[in-house]
Amino acid sequence: MSEEQYGFSTRAITAGQHFDPTTGAVVPPVYLTSTFVQDGIGGFRGGYEYARGGNPTRDSLQEQLASLEGGVKAFSFASGLAAEDALLRAVLTPGDHIVMGNDVYGGTHRLVNRVFVPWGIDLDVVELTDLDRVRAAIRPGSTKVLWIETPTNPLMKINDIAALAELGHEFGVLVVVDNTFASPYLQQPIALGADAVIHSTTKYLGGHSDVVGGAVVVNDEELAAKVGFLQFGVGAVSGPLDAWLTIRGIKTLAVRLDRHSSNAQSIAESLTGHPAIETVYYPGLPTHPGHDLASRQMKAFGGMISLGLAGGEVAARKLAESTELFQLAESLGGVESLIGYPSEMTHASVRGTELEVAPNIVRLSVGIEDVADLTADLLTALDRVTAASR
Ligand SMILES: *Cc1c(COP(=O)(O)O)cnc(C)c1O
Repeated sequence: MSEEQYGFSTRAITAGQHFDPTTGAVVPPVYLTSTFVQDGIGGFRGGYEYARGGNPTRDSLQEQLASLEGGVKAFSFASGLAAEDALLRAVLTPGDHIVMGNDVYGGTHRLVNRVFVPWGIDLDVVELTDLDRVRAAIRPGSTKVLWIETPTNPLMKINDIAALAELGHEFGVLVVVDNTFASPYLQQPIALGADAVIHSTTKYLGGHSDVVGGAVVVNDEELAAKVGFLQFGVGAVSGPLDAWLTIRGIKTLAVRLDRHSSNAQSIAESLTGHPAIETVYYPGLPTHPGHDLASRQMKAFGGMISLGLAGGEVAARKLAESTELFQLAESLGGVESLIGYPSEMTHASVRGTELEVAPNIVRLSVGIEDVADLTADLLTALDRVTAASR
């Protein structure tokens, strides 16, 4: 059976993970080396010369990622933002235009708004659930990139990847999906028509909150060559130990995401109708406006939930500071549950822009602990919120 015919969970464990031929070590070693001996000038062993250009551990991660996203090639970087920067620089030149969703990761908006716009790129931020508005925002000939996140951060809106890809391609626009929230286990943007996928591997792919990293996966050799050149030529590469930790995390992605999703579904249902909560934002709830689309586009609904507190900013802050198992911290996607206050944490950089997050929103990254413990932790904290407001 060839590698591509295996199922997702098998490929997560086998793609790029060949045992070490010299010792038989089942887990390929971490190649902690910056350079490689040459057998005579230019006599490279396996093509390796200097580790910014290539390192076997990084290659092993890149093969694993390309296989899981169904792309022709993947490139790993020192962070998610470094990956985004490389992809954008590979396809944009000053004068070009980018259309971006209005609920993207705050740092993505900051990168484009504060680095690419001053460099000469035009940015329009639009509501991606409204295809007419996306069509109206595209400037034929100068729009080069359509940047999609789904589910969005932090409002969990669901955008239609297939429909947006078709629309973008009508105008020759490169369609990019930030697949960080769903991961390739839950959602396959390239199969749905996207041209490139980016990841903060810091989140679900790494999965243990112990490594920062990013990746670009592309569906086209020409784009692969451009991104590959920037990975080498600009140099924001992932180090071998970071790559190895990410590989190790990815092997359990499927089982983790099943648990993240079932825990989050159960918590979203338990909190629905709670008097302290105005809205539970979770695509697994039938009342969520993107529920039907998410049911078609995703394998399950993932581990991220946002809550809109009835008591506004005061209540949201109180909740974020009252849980015990849900630790107050930035980031998401790890085995441990985290709680965040987006308007001052992950999305502080978009205050005063059209991406500003309402002050009553709290975001949960639901971990894989026992769901009864997680639910009890939230309900106890919500009691404190209610008591404080009396
Ligand atoms: C965290 C995150 C990023 C940025 O990744 P870093 O690894 O922090 O640089 C990009 N997109 C999304 C959706 C994220 O959550």
